[in-house]
Amino acid sequence: MDNCLFCKIAAKQIPATVVYEDDELLAFKDIRPHAPVHILVIPKIHVATLSDCDASHTELLGKMLALAPRLAKEQGCAVTWQDGTPGGGYKTMINSGPDGGQEVYHLHLHMFGGPHPWRVER
Ligand code: AMP
Ligand code: ZN
Repeated sequence: MDNCLFCKIAAKQIPATVVYEDDELLAFKDIRPHAPVHILVIPKIHVATLSDCDASHTELLGKMLALAPRLAKEQGCAVTWQDGTPGGGYKTMINSGPDGGQEVYHLHLHMFGGPHPWRVER
């Protein structure tokens, strides 16, 4: 797709800090992170928005979402509290359409994680 920022990133025409790549997906660091870890997962094919998806995209969407726990683990979005209990975690989000806050019209899954500054270690 001409003139699509994320297609250009997928084609390596625009640089990005890539953290995962396979035949279908690319994951890279968001340029304006909203959390200590902020990764975007995109399909390499151009799909403008989630609203363009239907049942034929089920496998692709599943792969995008299933990548999040792997990225979270690799990016260190987990802690072990002093009492040994597991903590940490992350959020996933897909903004769709203008009222959904979508700015880049190439489907992408946000993965936010990292330590919350307001959280007090117990
Ligand atoms: P959205 O509002 O869901 O469309 O999110 C678009 C995201 O793309 C924003 O969080 C931007 O910071 C991010 N972004 C825009 N340009 C780039 C870029 N060149 N490399 C990495 N992330 C980008
Ligand atoms: Zn695109």
